[in-house]
Amino acid sequence: LSGKEFKPEPTVVDIDGVKVGGDNFTFMAGPCSVESKEQLFEAAKAAKAGGAKMLRGGAFKPRTSPYSFQGLKEKGLKYLAEAREETGLKVVTEVMDPREVELVAKYADVLQIGARNMQNYPLLREVGKTDTPVLLKRAMTGTYREFLLAAEYIMAGGNYDVMLCIRGIRTFVQDTRYTLDLSAVPVLRELTHLPIVVDPSHSTGSWKYVPSISKAALAAGADGLLCEIHPDPKNALSDGPQSLKPENFKEMVEEMKPIAEAV
Ligand code: PEP
Ligand code: MN
Repeated sequence: LSGKEFKPEPTVVDIDGVKVGGDNFTFMAGPCSVESKEQLFEAAKAAKAGGAKMLRGGAFKPRTSPYSFQGLKEKGLKYLAEAREETGLKVVTEVMDPREVELVAKYADVLQIGARNMQNYPLLREVGKTDTPVLLKRAMTGTYREFLLAAEYIMAGGNYDVMLCIRGIRTFVQDTRYTLDLSAVPVLRELTHLPIVVDPSHSTGSWKYVPSISKAALAAGADGLLCEIHPDPKNALSDGPQSLKPENFKEMVEEMKPIAEAV
């Protein structure tokens, strides 16, 4: 279902009028975690002012340590829905547990499957039963084939609105958090009709590298960007070091415009 043999023309996922895929380049921006209503609303305003069409933000957080901030859960989802009302931005947020798919889908416009859950087959099947679009992140050790077969799990359930998101893989490189495998863009383009989104934040782990990687992603033919921004990165409860400040996000989007015209 995900292959070009099945469908040669590119898939455009339509999220209530916001399109991802085809001739569009779509910015999705927001904080790593929803921390408070104030923080989320500030980030949402910054996302919109910078040119984003979608708001990201985790309410259920997959943290490496069980003692780290785990997210605001349903309260966070409610803030996201309120931010959508306020700004018109569509909401993309992670679901980690098959038992929570229904709850998250009640608030979200797009269900995000995190890198750690790319091969959580019960979860993939559960989101495949919904009619909510899905942003599927590549596992840090996932091959292209495994990535596409994960998408296939969702599509096999009848949900064809899948966007692929590359976010960096684990290599020997230690100066970035992960290594962005940008070859994934042209290679996946050849294999699948599904839209391809790049996450420059988790791949680099450092806000300073985000603009160059974002420009490279656009030049390589990606369909959109999933980018972390925070009104006060120093005091973020998660991923502050890789979060752009509002003014830096806006500046980056401006700098990307000439590249967008050239591709
Ligand atoms: C995220 O985007 O919020 C996230 C946790 O990313 P990943 O699953 O790629 O680590
Ligand atoms: Mn994060």
